[in-house]
Amino acid sequence: MPTPQQAKRVLSGMRPTGKLHLGNYVGALDNWVRMQDEYDCFFFIADWHALTTDYADPSNIKQNSLEVAMDWLAAGLDPERCVMFFQSHVPVHAELHLLFSMITPLGWLERVPTYKEQRENIKEKDLSTYGFLGYPLLQSADILIYKGDFVPVGEDQVPHVELTREVARRFNSLYSKEVDVLPEPKPLLTRSPKLPGTDGRKMSKSYGNTILLTDPEPTVRHKLKTMVTDPKRVRRTDPGDPDVCPVGDLHKIFSNAETMAKVYEGCRSAGIGCIECKGWAADALVQILSPLQERRKKYESHPRLAWDILEAGSAKALTVADATMRDVRKAMAIALEYEPPQAGESR
Ligand code: SF4
Repeated sequence: MPTPQQAKRVLSGMRPTGKLHLGNYVGALDNWVRMQDEYDCFFFIADWHALTTDYADPSNIKQNSLEVAMDWLAAGLDPERCVMFFQSHVPVHAELHLLFSMITPLGWLERVPTYKEQRENIKEKDLSTYGFLGYPLLQSADILIYKGDFVPVGEDQVPHVELTREVARRFNSLYSKEVDVLPEPKPLLTRSPKLPGTDGRKMSKSYGNTILLTDPEPTVRHKLKTMVTDPKRVRRTDPGDPDVCPVGDLHKIFSNAETMAKVYEGCRSAGIGCIECKGWAADALVQILSPLQERRKKYESHPRLAWDILEAGSAKALTVADATMRDVRKAMAIALEYEPPQAGESR
């Protein structure tokens, strides 16, 4: 018997940026793995979204999508317990996006905070395109086409869900009769702890400070060794504070209580050195990454397996999305079926 929550549908996607890193894992993937037993989950690889910024050179998108698929499977997403698919394999997302573009005021898109932020921060690409402005609307279509109940997000993504809710409301007020065709989804705030990269800034591919889920043990240990620490701990004899140290942040997420106690005590009393402390953090990471890497081997030697799983998921997703599109077209009076002209109309 499904629990009440299992009947609730969760929708989320990830851009195919290549092999995933620990930030992707603690910020999303780890939550998704847990959710697949609690909700009816649909997870997609947002390859069209990748085009909104990488349109000038799309040559890596397909390979990157496959890498993401393998990381998902390695992390424990299970095609028996969730639907995993490629966005571009369900082309009706684009149809709904187009229909939404007819009813969405430009101002709604221009005020999405990440739009302004990214235009200012990504200087090396020309983002003054229609596709880039419209990507939150494509996200709305991605969600509403599955009539999702919840969208798991961190705080910074809440405005995107709010836009989706506004679009659904506008659609329903214009076209729905007794029952809303597109239910409004709610944000599902998920655990997304602060995960620093090796330079202490937020872990991100664009900063080159990541630890990949696929990094072998020697690489993890090497990256940890180069990681920045509490700047006040210059000498071995200087006491430090794990609360202002990026390595301390890693411990808080990945280490057990016993190790945490040793870190706090040893760091504040200068009883341990940073090398030793980083070694413990590396131990914790290796323990988490090893089983993932073990599971990934099967797909690395047969990538087609991962591809086929996502293909099968795309077919399942298409069935659900098609049903919504039938409702949407009907509500907008553009159903594909022939309808005889009404009496009094010219033929
Ligand atoms: S001992 Fe550990 S927590 Fe303290 S400054 Fe060094 S690396 Fe950071």
